[in-house]
Amino acid sequence: MNPVTNFFDMNQHAMREFFTRMEEKPYRADQIMKWIYHQGITDFDKMTDISKDLRQHLAEQTTFSIPTPVSRQTSRDGTRKWLLRIDELNCIETVFIPEKDRGTLCISSQAGCPLNCSFCSTGKQGFNRNLSVSEIIGQLWLANLELGSFQQRQRLITNVVMMGMGEPLLNFDNVVMAMELMKHDLGFNLSQKRVTLSTAGIVPGIDRLAETTRVSLAVSLHAANDDTRNKLVPINRRYPLSELMAACQRYTKRRDNDTITFEYVMLDGINDSERDARQLVNILSTVPAKVNLIPFNPFPGSQYKCSSKQTIDQFRDILMQHGVITITRKTRGDDIDAACGQLVGQVIARARRLQQGHAFQQQ
Ligand code: SF4
Repeated sequence: MNPVTNFFDMNQHAMREFFTRMEEKPYRADQIMKWIYHQGITDFDKMTDISKDLRQHLAEQTTFSIPTPVSRQTSRDGTRKWLLRIDELNCIETVFIPEKDRGTLCISSQAGCPLNCSFCSTGKQGFNRNLSVSEIIGQLWLANLELGSFQQRQRLITNVVMMGMGEPLLNFDNVVMAMELMKHDLGFNLSQKRVTLSTAGIVPGIDRLAETTRVSLAVSLHAANDDTRNKLVPINRRYPLSELMAACQRYTKRRDNDTITFEYVMLDGINDSERDARQLVNILSTVPAKVNLIPFNPFPGSQYKCSSKQTIDQFRDILMQHGVITITRKTRGDDIDAACGQLVGQVIARARRLQQGHAFQQQ
């Protein structure tokens, strides 16, 4: 038996196989999952429906390992941010956004990000590594624990968005397994509509996602022509808009015309003209779409400014007049750098950058 088996790295199938190999009943997996994900308990002593001998054996052979909080911040608007250590060199960030009728957790999928979008703080620090399943699902478990969901037996996190640090489709297998745990009835039991994966446009990943699992899809579009998008989202050079929109069409066809959310950060003088709005209407005409307009959150060293409120309103009106459902997202948690595009995991990432002599992978 592997001495470092981590239950947070396993789905129900893997756990059942694990217990079968131990010559135990496979339903032990279901018991463990209920303790972890329904009760928030990872102390074998408290797992009273499992025999003492087995508990002792498991305590010697297995672990419940997730990222460790380094700091916690709460914004004046109630947004909470955790800086989590995943190893001695890397930290990630997780953000909880409470609203009247929902609570959304924004989860990271990679330490850093290789895609280097020019308006994104995470992209500026380069790519460190993919997160494991336990490091992804552990963010949701830990946030539930710290918010008091388990103790209060109340679902305080109703929605999860894979929109934190990293490009989730470049960590496909781990992200999909973690999302399955989010949806599983012995896991967090979230509906597929409330689990959203956001991609910058990894075309083969979108096709694979459609074949593999069912979640909500968001695409970080940010520009409606290749010239502008090449500058903002460099992966566009590899998968230009024509290929990306074709992948979105295939995705919605396979998914009974599910609506795709297109994220569009509003950058003054860059992508916010009337012409940009009309181009956006045009390219979205082929897919069931809604648009989130995101006022840009400047960060130190960023080269962009946010569009004015008037420009954002005009942009939104053009989309709405053409039948595109459009919401302007409120900026949340900007006083603690928890707003969209501001996640950096800066403490340890900076230390690592110094160690590596700034030799980060860049595209
Ligand atoms: S916007 Fe997303 S995909 Fe682009 S660099 Fe930032 S984290 Fe990566």
